[in-house]
Amino acid sequence: MTAAATPHPTVGRWAPSPTGDLHLGNLRTALLAWLFARSAGGRLWWRFEDLDGAVRPQFYDSQLRDCAALGLDWDGEPVSQSDRLDLYRDAISDLCRRGLTYECFCTRREIAEAAAAPHGPSPEGAYPGTCRRLTHAEREQRRAEGRPPALRLRVGTDGPEHTEVTVVDSQLGAYAGTVDDFVIQRGDGTPAYNLAVVVDDAAQGVDQVVRGDDLLPSTPRQVHLARLLGLDPPSYAHVPLVLGPEGRRLAKRDGAVTLRDRSALGETPIDIVNLLLRSLGLDPITRLDDLAETAQRFDPTTLPREPWVHEPPAESQ
Ligand code: GLU
Repeated sequence: MTAAATPHPTVGRWAPSPTGDLHLGNLRTALLAWLFARSAGGRLWWRFEDLDGAVRPQFYDSQLRDCAALGLDWDGEPVSQSDRLDLYRDAISDLCRRGLTYECFCTRREIAEAAAAPHGPSPEGAYPGTCRRLTHAEREQRRAEGRPPALRLRVGTDGPEHTEVTVVDSQLGAYAGTVDDFVIQRGDGTPAYNLAVVVDDAAQGVDQVVRGDDLLPSTPRQVHLARLLGLDPPSYAHVPLVLGPEGRRLAKRDGAVTLRDRSALGETPIDIVNLLLRSLGLDPITRLDDLAETAQRFDPTTLPREPWVHEPPAESQ
């Protein structure tokens, strides 16, 4: 008997930032990341994206607990980006050695002003490459002023400071976006999100990224960076966000939006899973274990393409 070639199993991830309790929008994206991975018989890693200053220690556990309470599971132990700084530093050093980075001393305000300038070769919102053109003396002067530099990627090495990259998203189709000289290390020395996410996805063997579609505009940058680092970009499924009654992204101000809030109103985890399943056009379940069957029947092509507008229960407003 000849052994059939084992297809490469899907590897997904769920990468929340532990900055607060997960709300229905986050939980719905977590459920989708789980469904995409499990429906393909794949693995799902949990990765805390905790390089941000707004992280609070209590939310690591509360986020794990809330997802587990809804019947979601993941493989192995959760990892935290704050434990993986060496990986990011290696990638940054590699880019620096190859002459693909430069120091940027601009303040947020200077960047906003430069980006808003009426003419110039840069697309709207793109960093116009101000610090790329600093002379050695100017750079020395800024250092002496004590401005801690961020590190930016040098995108077009000898042409304009930006390029266009098209990514193909399984839910949204082709998306073309500008890749400018984006920050890969912040002024305080912390690796930037776009760098860390690319390094982590590759190091963890992730080949399927399922996340909120607010991150679609970052994707061309991430694909560009992955290619520069010689890494295979994953496939992408950007899923619609949950909006509050005013049409803005769901947030705490919208009332009872976390599992804790909903439990206080007497809702059970099954109620919440069913609310999320219905919002995705999927059949409700009677026991959390039934989610395994939901995964078996899961067909991403049937998912809604529009955001879900959620009206929190009146008692909570
Ligand atoms: N940490 C990001 C968030 O919580 C997700 C980043 C990603 O999935 O690439 O929105």
